[in-house]
Amino acid sequence: MENRDIEQYFKEMMSAEKSADHSIITSLEKKVYDMKNLIEIGISLSSNLDFKSLVDAVLYSCIGQLFIDKIAILLQVDIDSNCYYIHSHKGYDIASISDEIILGENSVLSSFLQDHPEPHDYETLRKIPELTEDLNAINDLSPILIVPMKSKNSLNGIIIVGNKMLGTPFTTDEKEFLRQLSRFSATAVENSRLYLMATQDRMTRLHVHHFFQDKLLEEMKRSQRSGEPLSLFITDIDHFKKFNDVYGHQQGDSVLKEVARLMRESVRATDCAARYGGEEFAVILPGASIELASEVANRLRKTIEKHEFPGQNEPLHVAISAGVAQYDPERDLHKEDLIERADKALYKAKESGRNRVAVFR
Ligand code: GH3
Ligand code: MG
Ligand code: MG
Repeated sequence: MENRDIEQYFKEMMSAEKSADHSIITSLEKKVYDMKNLIEIGISLSSNLDFKSLVDAVLYSCIGQLFIDKIAILLQVDIDSNCYYIHSHKGYDIASISDEIILGENSVLSSFLQDHPEPHDYETLRKIPELTEDLNAINDLSPILIVPMKSKNSLNGIIIVGNKMLGTPFTTDEKEFLRQLSRFSATAVENSRLYLMATQDRMTRLHVHHFFQDKLLEEMKRSQRSGEPLSLFITDIDHFKKFNDVYGHQQGDSVLKEVARLMRESVRATDCAARYGGEEFAVILPGASIELASEVANRLRKTIEKHEFPGQNEPLHVAISAGVAQYDPERDLHKEDLIERADKALYKAKESGRNRVAVFR
């Protein structure tokens, strides 16, 4: 909301009071209320770096504020991509929604929205022949308004707004709300993407090494304060050098990605799985005793041992070894002490035959 708008509201409020026109006062009060809401939403969006919950917050803010029955958000496939896909949606029949790319590279609609970053009536856009093909791709989303999310110079998303529950048309104020919300959302989504890029390993989508180090220190402090256990395991793929030699580096990369996926799926949301080095991974398990951490590591080991990795002619197999250690506040003055014990346990697992989990007690 710019100063000019606030001044305008203030003038209208004064003259309404003079003429005691209560309908104007009520409408101005509503505007002030909406503005306060928008500020609250803006603050909460800008302090949220978690991508998924951020996008949900954008969708729920629209639903809550405007009482709409359907809403979807298209986001860039990647930060430097011009392709957009449906990231999240509410109110649709799931089966009718595709998660494939909806707007491809160089789509006319995305460049149009880039140049006209305000909310558009879908029906008005329909009258522009060049947009027909792209609009057909989003037709199943029953759009009423198309709201671009533009941050700095790039269009990083598109909010597709469906009907209002009561079926009434969108007012100018509601469109203004969406315009402002989309600006906040675009910046928040960009920040969250940049944060992700800085903390997530691109290849495996696990946390990067320095994130792991910071997280471990944070969890050690928390465990020391709360007395809750904290454990860590480090894993390394067995004979991976040979695997690369036999099947090639690219095949090795696919295995690494798949192992990382299995790892992401086998730990809890509160655990932190990171790519520690080339083919070494580490998992921090807050609240877990060494027994529980060994169980998790062993389950992962078995899953990987059984897993059939797609190969050129036949399925391929790999195994991992893991070393587990539990944080001991008396003994682990530095995080390196704890890491060293997990590392020693890993060494023991390798020495005693690989494809196993060893514990440092
Ligand atoms: P072991 O761990 O069982 O002792 O034997 P190893 O052959 O796996 O030995 P080590 O862990 O020392 O080897 C690491 C190998 O992993 C070397 C390198 O070729 C491979 N590697 C590391 N990072 C990557 C990667 O990003 N992609 C691929 N394809 N290979 C990688
Ligand atoms: Mg290694
Ligand atoms: Mg290895």
